[in-house]
Amino acid sequence: MSRLNCYGSLKMHVQDFQTMMRKIYFHRDSERGATGTYKWLVDEVKELEEAIRTQDHKAMVDEFADVLAWLASLANVVGIDLEKAATSKYNGKCPKCQKSLCQCPFSKHTS
Ligand SMILES: [Zn+2]
Repeated sequence: MSRLNCYGSLKMHVQDFQTMMRKIYFHRDSERGATGTYKWLVDEVKELEEAIRTQDHKAMVDEFADVLAWLASLANVVGIDLEKAATSKYNGKCPKCQKSLCQCPFSKHTS
C-alpha cells in the first residue's frame, strides 16, 4: 500500500500507481480510447527524448513522470495490470538469456 517516503511524497508499488491513475483519469482515458491515449504516450516519449538530448535534468524528471503516467493510463484503457505484466516477464533475470546479469549480445539499439 501507499506510504510516504523520506521526501514526504507517496511511495507506492506500480500497481498502486496504476490504480491512482485510474481513479484520477479513467473517465477521460476511456473516452479518448486506446489509440488516442497511445498517441499521448508517444508524444511524451518524444518530449523525454528532447529533455535527454538537451541534458535538462528538471525536464527529464518531469517527462519520466509523464511517460509513466501515460503508460499507466494506456494500460488501464486496454485492461492490462502493469505490475503483473512487468514482474512476470522481468522476474529477477533477463527474459532472453535467463541470466540474473544479462549476457545478451548488444543489439543495434544499445550499441
Ligand atoms: Zn539477456
